[in-house]
Amino acid sequence: MTDSELERLLALSDPAAIAALYDDAYRVKMECIGKCVSIRGLIEISNICRKNCYYCGIRSGNGKVARFRISREEILETALWAHRHRFASLVLQSGEVASEAFTSFIEEIVREICARTGNGMGITLSLGEQTRETYRRWRDAGATRYLLRIEASDPELYRRLHPADHSYEARTECLHMLRELDYQVGSGVMIGLPGQTIRHLVKDLRFFQAYDIDMIGMGPYIPHEDTPLGAGMTLTEEYRKHQLELGLKMIACARLLLRDVNIASTTALQALDPKGRELGLLAGANVIMPNLTDTAYRSGYRLYAGKPGLDESSERSLEAMSRSVESAGETILWGARGDSRHYFRRHEK
Ligand code: SF4
Repeated sequence: MTDSELERLLALSDPAAIAALYDDAYRVKMECIGKCVSIRGLIEISNICRKNCYYCGIRSGNGKVARFRISREEILETALWAHRHRFASLVLQSGEVASEAFTSFIEEIVREICARTGNGMGITLSLGEQTRETYRRWRDAGATRYLLRIEASDPELYRRLHPADHSYEARTECLHMLRELDYQVGSGVMIGLPGQTIRHLVKDLRFFQAYDIDMIGMGPYIPHEDTPLGAGMTLTEEYRKHQLELGLKMIACARLLLRDVNIASTTALQALDPKGRELGLLAGANVIMPNLTDTAYRSGYRLYAGKPGLDESSERSLEAMSRSVESAGETILWGARGDSRHYFRRHEK
């Protein structure tokens, strides 16, 4: 696909043409992945973060957030609950912390989850920028996937979204390190940011291609009232509709361009429309990450306004997820890790 073709698809406004784009992407998903959904249980282990990204609700500069870190026992209990409920993949996510204490805390948790589940869990980490040695220790402990969103692949746009001491180059270097350490590497962007153009989005898709990304977790930008970027912005119906549609078009274009990668249908879609998650699956996504974090902590991990499921128990999250997947006519792959096929194909070459 050429850049101008991608630009044309992302700019579509005719409902019939947009529906045809989703259908094409869905066909590619059926060919490359099947009519099925992989699941990962998401555990938000801490909202403490050393970074101060202008769009993020848990940025270090937001003094209104009560900070938490879940204990080792609580994480383990949730992981084992997930294992009993036929999850074979977990995502451990937190704000960015760089310390020996944090590195060994994660290392021990990963090792213990692997040991207690008979190495039956595919573990994804989403813990920000770290040193090569830290990534290596976590990989050796048993983590096989790492999600590090670039958020905006255009260096200039990236700089507008972050304070001066947040380095685009350091972030891309981390993606290289993760690849060298043989993780399945995930990245993603925010879609519909202020100042972002269709050309930027095409660049984002090319970035995923150039970095040979295995997993994509991207979602529409939703403003958070306590952030420099989101303060004063209002979520009108028209804005929600626009953001949702652009998010779905990006999923469809990513599927058409990258074919066999894992693509998440993120909760940001659901925040914009109760059926957003199903719509993501029908536009080409194949992964859902129900939140298993104890509800006592969930409101502390509000990255954007209107994040869904803050008071929904894990049982109810699962029921809601099963219903939404069934209503999209898809099957959940219970008990399967759902590793990225792209990663294994790359290894075969
Ligand atoms: S986006 Fe990530 S790194 Fe930036 S402030 Fe939020 S949690 Fe921290």
